Amino acid sequence: MAQGSSGHTAPIGYDDTPLIPGTEWHVHDGTRPQPRVITPGSGNSQNEPPSDATVLFDGSDLAQWVGSDGQAGWKVENGYMEVTRTGNIQTQEHFSDCQLHLEWAAPAEVEGDSQGRGNSGVFLMGNYEIQVLDGYNNPTYADGITGAIYGQYPPLVNACRKPGEWQTYDIFFTAPRFGGQKLISPAYITVVHNGVLVQNHRAAMGPTGHKRAPSYDEPHPAKGPIMLQDHGDPVRYRNIWIRAL
Ligand code: MG
Repeated sequence: MAQGSSGHTAPIGYDDTPLIPGTEWHVHDGTRPQPRVITPGSGNSQNEPPSDATVLFDGSDLAQWVGSDGQAGWKVENGYMEVTRTGNIQTQEHFSDCQLHLEWAAPAEVEGDSQGRGNSGVFLMGNYEIQVLDGYNNPTYADGITGAIYGQYPPLVNACRKPGEWQTYDIFFTAPRFGGQKLISPAYITVVHNGVLVQNHRAAMGPTGHKRAPSYDEPHPAKGPIMLQDHGDPVRYRNIWIRAL
């Protein structure tokens, strides 16, 4: 599953998980082809929110966010927030279709490997994870690398910057529609990572899961929060804004 610190390379990912519907790949399949590595351009950072955006984090406080027991416990300093092993945080306001911009940085000091290095995540509606990971020279299973729709779609390319450098996500999201217990249309997700298209209007197969096949068997509310994952690694975020569509 992970690379040992001794340098010994163990198999990456899983082969005992269910097949992802419509594909020949197991969930988190270690043999699924890796996205091609590219070098993104250096711009596209510190984008100013447009006038009609809701600013979710401007670097000063977590007023827009809550934790699992009320208070959002992440650290705020120097214009960014940082994961502090106090649990996931999510927006007080709930959203459906949206455009979301955020910037993140994996720890400059590299620790761990595979899924244990700079892991966090952006969950649309609290349910659909765009993976945040230090994917720079860090082999892991393809559907779990940076910019993956976790457990479903690897990114089209690996556009990671080096650990410690600020990176951007611009996410365009169409919420799924349910009629009673039945799915009418799936969630559609487009992701631009550091100015590079990595997910092009992908139809999500259901809410994110770990080691299980995705499905829409359980309908969820029409709106949900933006959730940021605490995976135990001190990942930083800044300049987060959203436009409800
Ligand atoms: Mg994650």
